[in-house]
Order: sequence, then C-alpha cells, then structure tokens
Amino acid sequence: MTDNATHCWPNSPEQPGPGGRLIVVSGPSGVGKSTVTDALEERGGFYFSISVTTRKARPGEEEGEHYRFVSEERFGEMIRADELLEWAQYNNNFYGTPRRPVLDQIAAGSDVLLEIEVQGAMQVIGAYADAVTIFINPPSIDELIRRLRGRGHMSEETIERRMEIARGEMEIGRQHFDHRVVNDDLERVVGEILGILARSPSN
Ligand code: ADP
Ligand code: 5GP
Repeated sequence: MTDNATHCWPNSPEQPGPGGRLIVVSGPSGVGKSTVTDALEERGGFYFSISVTTRKARPGEEEGEHYRFVSEERFGEMIRADELLEWAQYNNNFYGTPRRPVLDQIAAGSDVLLEIEVQGAMQVIGAYADAVTIFINPPSIDELIRRLRGRGHMSEETIERRMEIARGEMEIGRQHFDHRVVNDDLERVVGEILGILARSPSN
C-alpha cells in the first residue's frame, strides 16, 4: 500500500458501508496469472471482474464471460467517460476494468478479484490504498522462458524483450505490492494466496 493513495472504502462516498475487498493479482506475462486465478475461481467466493479489451476473441472465448470485446472507439469513449477503474495498452491492444460492476460488488460485500498486467495494477495501487495486491513471481527466469515458449512460437528477440520487461516488472513487484508469491506448484501457490486472503483484513 502507498501513503499517497486515496482510501476508496469504507470512507468514500462511493462506498458508504462495510464492503468486500479489491484483490489484484498481477505479474509478468507467462508467469501463470490466468492459471492461478482460474484455480482460485474454482474454489469460489470471489467476483471476477470481466475486463473490456480491443483484442479479437480467441477460439473458445465467449463475449461477457472471458472479456467484453469492444472497438477502439468504444474503449476511448469509456476512458473519456471515466468508466474504467484502470486500463493499459498491452501487445498493441487495450485492456481495462469497468469501474461500476467492481464498486457495486464491493459495496454489496463481495471480494472482487482483478487479474491484470502490471501497468494497470500500479494504477490500482495509486488509487485504492485498501486493495490487496499480490504479485506472482516465476520460480526462475529460465522457468518463465520455458512457460512462455510452451504457449506457442515466439522469436528469440521477442523472448528477450519479454524477459527485459519481466525483470522490470519483478522490481515493481518487490517495491510496490503487498504480497509476493512464487508460482512453482499450482496447488501450493493457490493455498498460499488463500492463506494471504484469509489473513488480510476486510473493509
Ligand atoms: P499468464 O496469464 O501470466 O500470462 P498463463 O496462466 O497463461 O500465464 O501460464 C503460462 C504457461 O505456464 C501456461 O502454459 C501454463 O500452463 C503454465 N503454468 C502456469 N502455472 C504453472 C505451474 N505452476 N507449473 C507449471 N506450468 C505452469
Ligand atoms: P490476454 O490477451 O492474454 O487475455 O491478456 C493479456 C494481458 O492483459 C494479461 O497479462 C492480462 O492479465 C492482462 N489484462 C487482462 N485484462 C486486463 C485489464 O482489465 N486491465 C489490465 N491492465 N490488464 C488486463
């Protein structure tokens, strides 16, 4: 948590009563964010924010379930109307978290989980001091490279660029996040995150 961040709840006018928690899970590309948050989703007990994105749906992805797929024009409108709690450009596409459903769920007492990349997570850290922020680290840089390679063909140049970005992000994780976990074994790390959340205060 940062000192200069505003406290969104329980004191903000948006959040008059006791509410749920805003939980942010972030980390470098390929570290296992989706894998870990999918496993958390299976355990239940969280509201998963559905992001908007300008990228095209991949096979098997459903509108409104994995993402809300929008045009760049619509995404720009959402930024201008301040409808996004955070947003970022990533791999030539835009991604953002619609603000209203998140605040409504928190006001209703639900814990809301955001699985987002690091630039967006830093915006949340700056704006919502009470967010519980969890950074996922790889067991090693070599393992991160293996996981990225395992997801499909990537040139050596792309891998090197991703590793450079990942090193910078891991430094941000060290400096700015409340908790850091290592995604070595899936069951173990999911248990560790559930333990962190069990110990983190409610609002
Ligand atoms: P991210 O969402 O951070 O980009 P993914 O969840 O897509 O990462 O995971 C990247 C790759 O790493 C996938 O092939 C996934 O199956 C693999 N992976 C994730 N967690 C683990 C783990 N604990 N052990 C081994 N492989 C993992
Ligand atoms: P993908 O295109 O593989 O689904 O996601 C690419 C990256 O965007 C992942 O690191 C994912 O965590 C991140 N992401 C997904 N939704 C959001 C969002 O709403 N905001 C931000 N900042 N990142 C997001």
